Amino acid sequence: MNLWKKFLDVLYPNTCCFCGKTVRESVCSACAKTISYIEEPVCKRCGKPIRYQEAEFCDDCAKQTFCYEQGRSVWIHKGPVRWSVYQFKYHNRRCYGEFYAKEMCRLYGNQIKRWGIDLIVPVPLHHARARKRGYNQAAIVAEYLGKKVQIPVATRLVVRCKNTKPQKALNHKQRIANVKDAFYVRKLPEGTKNVLIVDDIYTTGNTINEMAKAIQNSGVNKVFFLTISIGQGS
Ligand SMILES: [Zn+2]
Ligand SMILES: [Zn+2]
Repeated sequence: MNLWKKFLDVLYPNTCCFCGKTVRESVCSACAKTISYIEEPVCKRCGKPIRYQEAEFCDDCAKQTFCYEQGRSVWIHKGPVRWSVYQFKYHNRRCYGEFYAKEMCRLYGNQIKRWGIDLIVPVPLHHARARKRGYNQAAIVAEYLGKKVQIPVATRLVVRCKNTKPQKALNHKQRIANVKDAFYVRKLPEGTKNVLIVDDIYTTGNTINEMAKAIQNSGVNKVFFLTISIGQGS
């Protein structure tokens, strides 16, 4: 290790993405043992774990049709993962974004190739929220992922024109109404066929679906998504 790297390590020590402990790696050995990744069987649409392989779709996806084609996530949104994403989003732990992107690439790098993705687009924040927070967490992950899989990233292509309420507090109908027409798509790069949406959490899928609809209406073939975590659902 060179001196400069050593110096940086002292100045900005690595912290475990799941507990915040100062360690050399991105994940401490204790957390590495407890964090579990999503395993089969999963919903063919949204990637949420399902109980039986035969079911094909989770309850949510069996009930409704989505504009996106398919999507996957790295972890279930609970425990230390929930903590980690919260820190990343609200406590300026931007450095976690690189680790998330690395894991996305490791788990779904081949899937991204199979999907034939030619453009990566993070879910945008409304400008009022972006100003308050100072950064868009989804854009950070998207940029790192794009570098790893060598696919262009368009952080300004989609505009969130409606300052939506947090989806958490709303019921099913309100959630759909809340995000309706929330996105505006600027001019797509010539020849864009399949787009990958990147976001932090997938819960009901309404936000990603609304964004997928807007992208598709601007002439894209298929839209997919990758998120850091996904709600356990029903
Ligand atoms: Zn840890
Ligand atoms: Zn599903």
